[in-house]
Amino acid sequence: MRRISKEIRANGVSIGGGSRITVQSMLNTDTADTEASKAQIKRLAEAGCDIIRFAVVKPEDARAIYEFKSEFPYMPFVADIHFDYKTALACIDAGIDKIRINPGNIGDEDRIKAVADAARLKRIPIRIGVNGGSLEKHILAKYGSPTPEALAESALYHASLLERFDFDDIVLSVKSSDVITMIKANRIIAEKCGYPIHLGVTEAGTKRTGLYKSAVGIGSLLCDGIGDTVRVSLTDDPVEEVRAAKALLESLGLSSPLISVVSCPTCGRTQIDLIKLCDEFDSIIPELRPSRPVKVALMGCAVNGPGEAAECDLGIAGGKGEALLFKRGRPEKKIPYDKILQVLREEINKL
Ligand code: SF4
Repeated sequence: MRRISKEIRANGVSIGGGSRITVQSMLNTDTADTEASKAQIKRLAEAGCDIIRFAVVKPEDARAIYEFKSEFPYMPFVADIHFDYKTALACIDAGIDKIRINPGNIGDEDRIKAVADAARLKRIPIRIGVNGGSLEKHILAKYGSPTPEALAESALYHASLLERFDFDDIVLSVKSSDVITMIKANRIIAEKCGYPIHLGVTEAGTKRTGLYKSAVGIGSLLCDGIGDTVRVSLTDDPVEEVRAAKALLESLGLSSPLISVVSCPTCGRTQIDLIKLCDEFDSIIPELRPSRPVKVALMGCAVNGPGEAAECDLGIAGGKGEALLFKRGRPEKKIPYDKILQVLREEINKL
């Protein structure tokens, strides 16, 4: 069962309160290079990213927010700020939808109050993002290392600083590059507070390794009902993060794709190049326009294929240099190998 958390909103998009689990990513362009940043925002939006974060290093960089907001008014933008409360105030002033800052790192209480007051006035939520490398000295001294308990205590400590100034539009994240630590830390904060939780494994690695760490870390917590928004961190194009996060949510039935694919692993009965066909099909999915969600089966042989994919709307089962097209498990016609993709495209667009 899903954990009930407080609902917060960023530019009309809900996080928590039982709302749809949103997908986030972060620009890897220089924020001040607005042309390159806007091009990346466009690609992320097309890939289905729900919320986009970017680093704001100094107050002058907040100027980019005006441009981003005027070109993508529907997109919730999050400014990622470290240490500098003036940069946070500049971003709030420029119309940012949410900020990520750890209030314990910005200095005395007057600064924390200034940020909390400005965010409250503009109804902007704040994400507190704790990870193993950012722990306060007093917490590290207490626990000796970035244990799950230390990460959780740090996140709740930062939250308490904002609460002191009547601010509770808070999202929490506790990340670690160690998957087990990240899972345990999130379970602790999920139990100890009602704030929505942003899930992620930090510095997860490349697409090859990071995907597994994120799938296990984020996936385990989502199976527990914990997590309201996710970011899959990868050392890669941010669009890959969005694709991975969406696939992760789809695999748990937490998001419904327009096109879902089942394909067999191939075996000694396979007589067509199914691996190549599946790769090519994957690449045309964004162009397909069915009027309803469609399940497609790409199977290696006619012996088991149609039966194994009987609940699919459409499928192919490989033969020698050709494939049998079937609908809802019933055979329709044979198609030469080089026409399979084209026929699938036409049939799906008719649905
Ligand atoms: S569908 Fe056919 S080719 Fe694919 S794994 Fe099953 S038996 Fe092998």
